[in-house]
This record gives sequence, structure tokens and C-alpha cells, in this order.
Amino acid sequence: MEEIAIYPARTIVTMDPTQPDVEAIAVRDGRVLAAGSLEECKSWGAHRVDDRFADHVIVPGMIEAHAHSLEGAFALLPYVGWFDRHNAEGGITHGIRTYDGLLDRLRELDAETAGSSEPIVVGGFDPIYFVDEERLTRDHLDRVSAERPIFVFHASAHLATVNTAMLVQHEITRDATTPGVARDGDGEPNGELQEIPAMSLAISALVIILKMMNDPEAIEVLGQICANQGITTLTDLAASGLRDPASQKLWHDVVDRDDYPARILQRHVATIPPGGETWADAADVMQQLAADDTDKLRTAGLKVILDGSIQGWTAKMDWPGYYTGTDHGLWITAPDQVLDMCRPFHQRMINIHTHCNGDLTIDVWIDAVEQLLRESAWLDHRHTVQHSQLTKAHHFRRMARLGMCANIFTNHIWYWGDQHRDLTIGPERARRMEPCATAEREGVSFSIHSDANVTPLGHLHTMWCAVNRVTASGRVLGEYERISAESALRAVTLGAAYQLHADDEFGTLECGKAADFTVLEENPLTVDPMTIRDIGVWGTVVGGIPFAAKRP
Ligand SMILES: [Zn+2]
Repeated sequence: MEEIAIYPARTIVTMDPTQPDVEAIAVRDGRVLAAGSLEECKSWGAHRVDDRFADHVIVPGMIEAHAHSLEGAFALLPYVGWFDRHNAEGGITHGIRTYDGLLDRLRELDAETAGSSEPIVVGGFDPIYFVDEERLTRDHLDRVSAERPIFVFHASAHLATVNTAMLVQHEITRDATTPGVARDGDGEPNGELQEIPAMSLAISALVIILKMMNDPEAIEVLGQICANQGITTLTDLAASGLRDPASQKLWHDVVDRDDYPARILQRHVATIPPGGETWADAADVMQQLAADDTDKLRTAGLKVILDGSIQGWTAKMDWPGYYTGTDHGLWITAPDQVLDMCRPFHQRMINIHTHCNGDLTIDVWIDAVEQLLRESAWLDHRHTVQHSQLTKAHHFRRMARLGMCANIFTNHIWYWGDQHRDLTIGPERARRMEPCATAEREGVSFSIHSDANVTPLGHLHTMWCAVNRVTASGRVLGEYERISAESALRAVTLGAAYQLHADDEFGTLECGKAADFTVLEENPLTVDPMTIRDIGVWGTVVGGIPFAAKRP
């Protein structure tokens, strides 16, 4: 039997309402043996007292229930986004706020790698922050280099802008028939490549990004970012290994190691290859994959994507539609296919999380869940509305009756709240977007998320957004949708665990649960709410093993 380790701390927030704060936690076999007074912890027998957290605050391990493994790969790409962003070394990479700054950074990279014929690939560019400028095109990038191909990957991961050298290298001309090759007034490609088919034309750049996605180094970096941000479990909402045993093995080889700092849950997007396979076959494949689950790397269920993004004007909006701009609303999955796709998964009791950005999608998904339940009862399904940005009170009332959960994209308030107010949906709907207080009031269990790499991973920031609802310009957007710090902490611990069917194992600190902690410098429940995002992170404990954050 493993020796008992006892961790006293300045404050321990258990999120267990039967004993909300305790003096110490005893750990054995990777699990919480006892939470209580130091004497009670010692009474279990032979032990060592580990004082390293004596001046720190322990909360239950924070769970990011909607992120992407691209967060690791993105950290390996030079960053050119608008906002300052944390890097894997624990430091900050500063945002770039002018085209001149962007072009200077690209010139620097060109000089640093002079002589290489590899394309220059950078990530994080966000065009919505440059609405006062003309759209970024190849003409801008051509000022950096006429010979070296350049690929500027946008923050959305749906678009890229390339220079003329890249267009020439891959023979992307006015005759291109692939949809998504944007054009200038004369019909010539202007350098913007929209969505995967068009971006795939610039294959020399895409190969670099794809290689990074399944690169052990990117998986390592992802784990270190989790420790730096206090995340003990991360759910990848678009895992790609469903039919790729080699990539699954690679993930297991890295994540299953005792010294890997996070648990990774993989939620798979299902596809059926042409040639007679059915959704039932895809559901069988997913069930078989779950047989390889380990303590650290597990299958989380099905991901369905219904529409696009609000800030890209590609979300499907109900009446009266967008406030300004052109409605490019896009069904990624046709509403009449949702039932056929989801039915075999639901019948096998595989939990389903569905991306719903625009408010038109939410009715589609709730209707589908209601029909699935009429056909085959699964009372504890916990099917979830992901993003849930524009879910209304009447939706939440139906979701509560049907046993559905929500995962709300609160980081939007800070990153795009001003744009939603002024450009995409207008002031009234912007005030009620990311409706955490309404979800709470109507009795829907919810979590909140970063969608990293879309916005940076870090639950203190995500909690800060839900509690304060302050935009980048300093405006409070929707004061009545603010929630308490305690509700926000519950959302990123027990709320996330519940919608992952893992609340028996994670989410609170009590006897029998995993010894997963987030270790902080201050208590997020008692600091000034405006300082929650500034709280220092010592690191994490995962399965009883401490992982310190990297400091610059
Ligand atoms: Zn996502």
C-alpha cells in the first residue's frame, strides 16, 4: 500500500457543501483518502506531511470541458494575435495591433530563418479587430517577401491569408474551382483562403500545421500549459484519432506517462467514409475505442457541429438575424440529418455535445434530444448544448426538463463583447449572451469554457468573465447575467465533471474522488472579483502527483 501524503494548506475550498472548507487533505493511491482536520488525516496511519502548499489555496482540479489539442500546436507557431497571450514557458507573448507590426514580425521571422525554403507560418490573426483597415490581402504580405511563401493562420482556424509566392507555389490562380478562394475585383485570388478545402490548396503550410497537431512535442506543450493554467483535465472537442490507431497510440504513449501533467478526454467528431458505412458503424467504432481508455486518456463521446461562429457571421441566427454585416449563416450539419446521426450514439448511451452558436440551432438540438428520448429512454444522458451563447430562458426551461446541460462560452464577453454589441447582434442581445445567470435560475447544470486555442486556456480568466462580464473596452456587458465567484468555480469543477459523466470522480474534494487539485496563490471566492484573473497559479496535483507551473 502506498504511503499516505497529507497536504495542509492556508485555505482548502472543497466545493463539497457538507464540509466547504477543511484544514488538510490526505492522499493515497492517487485518490483523496480524507479531507478534514490535520489530526483526522493523520489518523489513517503511516504518513508524511507535505508542507509545500502551506501558504497556498487548494481548490478542486479545474476541468476545461471544451478546448482543442490545437492549443499545444498553436503554442509552437509564432503568434500574431491582437491580445497578449500566455506561452508554454509561462511568459507572455504580446499582441500585435497594427498591420505594420504584423509585417515587421514576419520580416523578423524571415530574417531569423534566412536561406530556408519552408513557408513562414504564423497564427492567431483576428480580422474583426481590424475593421477600420482594409481587409488583409496578399498585397500586404507581398511587402514582406516576393519569394518566400507566407501563411497567416487566423484565430478562428477557419481562414488564412497567404502571399503571392504561396499562391504561385501551389498554382492557386483565377481558374481555381475550389470554393473559398477569395478574389479581388478582377477575379484574381486576393490571398484569403476560407475554410479547410481552400486552405488545403496551400498544402506546404497546412502540412506544417497538421504535423504539429500530432507531434509529441505539441502534446507535451499542451500538458505544460494545463499545469501553468491550473487545469487538471482538458477535453479535446475535436479529437481526430477515431479511425487513426497510430495517432491514438501516440497520444497514449505521451499522456499515460506518470509525469504528464493532465488528463485528456477526447470527444470525437464522427464521419462516415463513403462506401456503405452507417452512423451505427461509426458509433460501434467509438465504443470500441473506449475499450482502450486509461486513467489519463479517455473517450468522452460524440461532438456534433451545427453552425459557424457569430463573429464570423456564419452562425445560424433566428429572427431578426444579424445587427450589421452580411449573414453568411451556415449549417455544418443539416438539421434533417441530426437525428439519424445521433440516434445510434444515443442508443449506445454515448454522451453527445453539440456546437450551437446561433439561436436557431438550439431549437434544432433540443428538438432532437426530445425525439431521441421519445424513441429510447436514457434518463441520465446529460447531452449538452456547447457554446450556448444565445440560449434563451425558454430554451433553458426545456433543457432542464429534458436533463440537458450547457457549456457557455463566457470568454466571448472579454474577447468579442464590444464587437457583438456594436456589429454582430446589437446591444440587447449582447447583454444577454453567455447567459450563465439564466441557466442557473432555470436549473440547468452548466460549465464555462475557453474553446482554446480560439481563446487562451485558463479558467481563472474564464471565471473572471462570467463573474464580471467586462469587455476589452471596459464596459460591463449585461450586469444581470453575472454570477457569483462560487457559481463560477462550481461551473469549472463540478459543473464540467457532471456534463462529462465524471462527477463521481472529479469536481469536489472528498473521500474517494481523484486527488486532482488546482493550487492557487489566493482564494477566488474571497478576492475582489475584478482580480480573479490575476491570481497566481502554483500549478496542479493530478492523481496525487504535483506539477508546478513554469515561470518565465
Ligand atoms: Zn471548439
